[in-house]
Amino acid sequence: MPNATSPAHGNTCPERSRGIPDAVIASVKNNTSFPALLRQYGIQTTKKGKSLFATCPFHEIDGHPENTASLSIDPTLNLYHCFSCNAKGNVIQFVMEIEKVTLV
Ligand SMILES: [Zn+2]
Repeated sequence: MPNATSPAHGNTCPERSRGIPDAVIASVKNNTSFPALLRQYGIQTTKKGKSLFATCPFHEIDGHPENTASLSIDPTLNLYHCFSCNAKGNVIQFVMEIEKVTLV
């Protein structure tokens, strides 16, 4: 029985199966600041006083992303809070929410 046609793979990485970019995983593990994390997702932030504001990725208005920045980020505590949909948490919760996965 020759065994010449066995598949070459068998090197599956469970980290990959979640579909989250490695850079994002690394950011979360390093407890990266929100501005850097949001940049990974292409979300722009605006500084207002001590807080940063961004358009919220967790809710839509009439099927479209919102135009007004409801997502408030506290760069000191590294927490987010949306005034429209009341989403809130830290960087890990942010990624879990946006990717619909459990990281911890
Ligand atoms: Zn929201």
